Amino acid sequence: MTVNQSLETYIEQSRAQFENLLGQMVEIPSISMDPDKAHDVRRMATLARQILTDFGAEAQIVETGGHPIVSGGWTTSTHHPTVTIYNHMDVQPAQEPEWRRDPFAFTNENGIYRGRGATDDKGPALSVLFGARFAIDQGLPINIRFLWELEEEIGSPHFAAGLKKRTEIPRPDSVVISDTIWIAKGRPAMPYGLRGLVGARLTLRTGSKDAHSGVTGGAARNPLAELMEVVQACVNAKTGEVKIPGFYKDVVKPTKEEIKSFLKSGFQVKRFKEAYGLHSLRTDDPAEVTRRIWAAPTFEIHGLTGGYHGPGVKTVVPGHGELKITMRLVPNQTPEKAFGLLKRYVAKLNPDVKVEREGMLHPFKGSFDGPYVECVKRAAKAGFGKEPAFIREGGSIGAVVTMQKVWKVPILFLGLSLPEHGYHAPNEYFDWGQASGGMKAFAQYFSELAKMGRLG
Ligand SMILES: [Zn+2]
Repeated sequence: MTVNQSLETYIEQSRAQFENLLGQMVEIPSISMDPDKAHDVRRMATLARQILTDFGAEAQIVETGGHPIVSGGWTTSTHHPTVTIYNHMDVQPAQEPEWRRDPFAFTNENGIYRGRGATDDKGPALSVLFGARFAIDQGLPINIRFLWELEEEIGSPHFAAGLKKRTEIPRPDSVVISDTIWIAKGRPAMPYGLRGLVGARLTLRTGSKDAHSGVTGGAARNPLAELMEVVQACVNAKTGEVKIPGFYKDVVKPTKEEIKSFLKSGFQVKRFKEAYGLHSLRTDDPAEVTRRIWAAPTFEIHGLTGGYHGPGVKTVVPGHGELKITMRLVPNQTPEKAFGLLKRYVAKLNPDVKVEREGMLHPFKGSFDGPYVECVKRAAKAGFGKEPAFIREGGSIGAVVTMQKVWKVPILFLGLSLPEHGYHAPNEYFDWGQASGGMKAFAQYFSELAKMGRLG
């Protein structure tokens, strides 16, 4: 039997075990956000460790001060390259009224696996594990490690602390993240970049309370109008262009190759508008839409509070106003610098406006080409019959930036989820097509890495 034939057979023979394990995992409501579910998150960690040891891997539960991390894998030799695959075992809450069944009662209808966490991210994690076991059984010269987080859905507050435990979570030679969504079924799409973020609250107090506009209006300052004037100076509302001096200085524009690759992902403007209920966009050109959502920074207003918000009109001059904004950032911007530019500019525009920072995440840019990217290409081709499109993600994954900062190793993405699987949505599911393709893709990826050996 060739390796390919034996891989096909292995996958078919593994199906029942895969379905049984996925069922056990989905039926644990490991909702990291819910303090009442801390016991279930812990049970999930215990089951995850058990699965790894049953597969013949070494595994441990690593304490972080919050929910733990499960770390484990196979070490074949210290001379072999080590790859760590990151997934997470915590899930979103599942209170949406649209759920047709109990979200934590797993069902399997001919390879459609329903339940919260099936696609985000338990199904992909398990697919990777099956692909890894095959690679190890083949005697490939590679060390494969798993890093299964249990706080991803709450922004990874203790992840950095966990990574510093070098004996339990050793530094690998490279990392793969398997927690992302393709743009369209049948077209593998792998991100290589993420936007960053910095939030701010802009507050302006011009009086101790709201006053009557018939009595004070004309003489009293209006903080809401003044905040809107600040906004107008910061962003062109029609085009989205940010007007803060120096804001674009560090932005690395995507190349023509990158934009071409974005368009190969199966992205469609019409479907994008439908999915998010958007009536119209600033542009309908697909190249421009993908550039804007994946590779360009933004200045967004999320809310303006102060004054009167009830029915009808109440004639007050507000005593204070508050503006909530964030700026999405791209390589090589930094949240610290973007915030500094905003603060300085606002001080010049209106020295009475107070600017306070609210959370920040650095942008991430991995490789768009190079040996590891070639491995991802061959893996996707082996698993799904097609080379992937390389895209970027408009959002942020805190754990990725942390791994880059702490380990300084190449980080690649090989996601297995489809948009219709319903990340964070009711009636979430995963399917055997993506699972079996994922096992093949990862088995191929590990064999490519083994061939490459240890670089530098
Ligand atoms: Zn996820």
